[in-house]
Amino acid sequence: MKRLDGKVAIITGSNRGIGKGIAIALAGEGCKVVVNSYKEDDDAKNAVEEIKGLGSDAVFIKANVTREIDVKELVEKAVKRFGKLDVLVNNAGILVAGTADKLSEKDWDRQMDVNLKGVFMCTKYAVRQMLKQGKGGRIINISSIAGLVGFPGISAYCASKGGVTEFTREVALDYAKYGITVNALNPGVIVTDMTKAMLADGSTKKALLESTPVGRFGQPEDIGNAAVFLALDESGFITGHNLVVDGGWTAR
Ligand code: NAD
Repeated sequence: MKRLDGKVAIITGSNRGIGKGIAIALAGEGCKVVVNSYKEDDDAKNAVEEIKGLGSDAVFIKANVTREIDVKELVEKAVKRFGKLDVLVNNAGILVAGTADKLSEKDWDRQMDVNLKGVFMCTKYAVRQMLKQGKGGRIINISSIAGLVGFPGISAYCASKGGVTEFTREVALDYAKYGITVNALNPGVIVTDMTKAMLADGSTKKALLESTPVGRFGQPEDIGNAAVFLALDESGFITGHNLVVDGGWTAR
């Protein structure tokens, strides 16, 4: 018996990177998973195949988290395919660097749309489904240490993740009495496409590593393991929490 046998999860933005790491970790514990992205590419197909190879069931559902109709259909299609929804992981996100004096309005809006509005809309339709089922649920938001402490040069990203941090606390209060827990994971620097350019620069890489006390960058499975913990039935007394998974970055 695996720890998430019989559960069904949607992980937004899970064709690659941290989302894929979370989908694999949940599937490894017996969870049926919906892999999602705004486009159906080879990464999406490969993620589904890899998860099926673990012996768990997986399906890809295309949806842009910034479009309400897509999000509504994402939840409907997931429930049609697997019969219910137990876990939502709000992982889809984008980062466009820029200090306040240089960032365009368009890049501010894009990051707010995906990173914050997307979390709201997926939460809205997932919670409606969980309330209908009447058996509680788990919502796990992938925020960032940039949603807890300042991080130079990425103004809109910090603002959007700060919003996710606070939205997590508020939504937790609204649905605690229904057994729906709402928590955030706040990763430090994780090796994915999002950080590829940053880590390709030798001096930036050195500075980031020096700020990470455990002496290594995180991998998607580090976040996947933490997501499994929050998804468990046994984690039902944890809600409204922002859990750092940052190799000690914010402990300094
Ligand atoms: P990534 O760029 O590899 O993955 C982002 C994912 O989001 C992709 O699967 C992409 O398809 C999806 N996505 C983007 N826009 C979307 C939309 N409109 N609708 C649906 N899906 C969309 O980056 P990642 O590092 O894996 O990031 C995943 C999450 O983790 C993000 O929320 C990011 O902010 C957060 N995070 C990353 C790090 C890091 O160091 N990599 C640190 C802290 C937080």
